[in-house]
Amino acid sequence: MAAVRPILSNQYFLVTFCRRSYSAKADKNVAFLGLGNMGGFMAANLVKKGFNVTGYDPSSEALSAAAKHGVTGASSIAAAVEAADVVVSILPSNQVVLDAYLGKDGVVAHAKKGSLLIDSSTVAPSVPKQIHPVATEHGHQFIDAPVSGGVMGAQNATLAFMAGGDKAHFDRSAPLLQAMGAKHFHCGAAGAGQVAKLANNMLMGITGMATAECMNMGIKMGLEPKVLLDVLNNSSARSWSTEVYCPVPGLVPTAPSSRNYDGGFKNELMVKDLELASGMALGARSPIPLGAVATQLYRVVQSRGYGHKDFSYVYQLLREELQNKK
Ligand code: NAD
Repeated sequence: MAAVRPILSNQYFLVTFCRRSYSAKADKNVAFLGLGNMGGFMAANLVKKGFNVTGYDPSSEALSAAAKHGVTGASSIAAAVEAADVVVSILPSNQVVLDAYLGKDGVVAHAKKGSLLIDSSTVAPSVPKQIHPVATEHGHQFIDAPVSGGVMGAQNATLAFMAGGDKAHFDRSAPLLQAMGAKHFHCGAAGAGQVAKLANNMLMGITGMATAECMNMGIKMGLEPKVLLDVLNNSSARSWSTEVYCPVPGLVPTAPSSRNYDGGFKNELMVKDLELASGMALGARSPIPLGAVATQLYRVVQSRGYGHKDFSYVYQLLREELQNKK
């Protein structure tokens, strides 16, 4: 027994050492796809934390903005991913993500075998479920890892990541997720991250709409807006929407409502996420009466031409409706 022990511990040392050096050393080269409002800051944070980042975005403005933060520009997805250990993407829609990964010039066809692929876009859970088996067949590791925290969270590296996929692949992604965010959760198999993200955003849309409606009602009845908000924040209706994101201008100085509803989470993105969540709920035959009303209400805001404003602009729509009825 005494002779066996050192061999076992040497083996243990070798395995541990190899694992450690694998994630710390091998995963230095990152390809980043989608350098928009979110991706631009996320790629910059990876550079700050010592990763070598090559980025691709069809927008030359996005590419040159990222270059100022140390991101090397590539001329195509294939060129960006060919030497990468890890690919991170944050893209606008289901179809763009499917094309970027599964298209003939896409990630799966051109990434090195053994690469870790992390998609942080908000898309339908069916998208990662489609990509995961094809990526695995090509010798890659794929996780969906959508984010919460908005553009400020991307800038300050305080995002929350909710991931779906194999646990070992999620563990491998940890150094990158930590470089771009403050929290990360493994939610289950491929697509589970998107389910968590869409549930979160539907609840955020519903509570935002409900806060706007009840603040409007109380103010209309003659209450001081600040008094009403103080009551809500110290009572059973308290939520993120009342505490951090009050839709009534001037009550929470850091909320988008206090800067003309600019620089927040755009109403059009809320509509997109509610539509994705509604599709998911329909497939699961899960009733979403409140989610359905919220989807319609935010759609009305968009059709009135305010899709570019923060989603808390819904308060202005409700105010307007009441004023018109006077
Ligand atoms: P954005 O429109 O600012 O950025 C998307 C970028 O992707 C653009 O620069 C676009 O040119 C680029 N792009 C389009 N096709 C591409 C391709 N084939 N390859 C590489 N790049 C491509 O959008 P955003 O606000 O950064 O949001 C991106 C994703 O993140 C969306 O899925 C959104 O729902 C999600 N999200 C956004 C926020 C937010 O607050 N903005 C918060 C959480 C999640």
